[in-house]
Amino acid sequence: MSISVSGISKYYGEQKALDEVNFSIKKGEIVGFLGPNGAGKSTLMKILTGYLEPSEGEASVNGFSVKDNLIKAQRSVGYLPEHNSLYTEMYVREYLAFNASLYKTDKSRIEKVIQETGLTPEANKKINQLSKGYRQRVGLANALLHDPEVLILDEPTTGLDPNQLVEIRDLIKKTGEEKTIFLSTHIMREVEALCERVIIINKGKIVADKKLSELRDENRQVIEVEFDYRIEEEALHRLPYIVSVRNVYDFVYELSFDNPKDMRPVVFDFAHDNGLKTLQLNRKNKNLESLFAELTAVPAPEGGV
Ligand code: ADP
Repeated sequence: MSISVSGISKYYGEQKALDEVNFSIKKGEIVGFLGPNGAGKSTLMKILTGYLEPSEGEASVNGFSVKDNLIKAQRSVGYLPEHNSLYTEMYVREYLAFNASLYKTDKSRIEKVIQETGLTPEANKKINQLSKGYRQRVGLANALLHDPEVLILDEPTTGLDPNQLVEIRDLIKKTGEEKTIFLSTHIMREVEALCERVIIINKGKIVADKKLSELRDENRQVIEVEFDYRIEEEALHRLPYIVSVRNVYDFVYELSFDNPKDMRPVVFDFAHDNGLKTLQLNRKNKNLESLFAELTAVPAPEGGV
């Protein structure tokens, strides 16, 4: 296994930021780690890269325990932190050479990573002269310097403009042909563009771990319905094949069914039988977005609509 996480919990004082997290990632996989802000993504990534110790549990990278064999684990992993802090007064090549000497990396890697990350035209510029997209490339080049087996990227495209975003995604995808990549994001499209598998975290707990292909083929069906008046969610839970009910806003509900058959007529009849009028009734494809919404929804206040 490239990454193995077993029973990891992390407390910050009283607060439980990670709650018995378990998963493993095989060599060569590109896995998206998706969750709302504050879900615990950065905390787990810091544990995997040895910047934080877990309160409970075990983790290993490339077979090396981050507790018992940290140096070897760190040698196996390239890390691009969320706030990629670079020495901005340094020139690109100088900065990479400095880090290579610090970590006693083979000097031939410097030119190789400059070329691989498309930094050749910028290599003699000062880092503070570079755009945000190119600074991210410097961060990636730095993470790749010691030719690690595993790359851990914490929100690698946050703050980039649309063109830079596409370029960095392409670069990550290319890098993923040879390495295991575990990347965090709160952008669902990023996962769809890059990853084969997604792990969703909410409030410190893993709430889904799925292959994207599974998600696309899933039997589930999502229907969005708008009634002219409120209905107790409990009543909606009595619909056949219903899996979940989400109150989107006002009298609009998103209903998930575990049945591929078109459930719209059933919902229409249900409304009629309950004295409601149906103002809208749309079938939506089950996708990452609806799964994410379902799994990370903030519960409606008690007694609410
Ligand atoms: P994410 O990366 O998903 O946004 P984080 O791992 O940064 O989430 O944070 C998870 C939770 O832990 C949040 O509630 C955050 O406020 C809290 N947290 C993170 N770092 C610290 C810290 N150094 N001290 C106290 N609480 C922290």
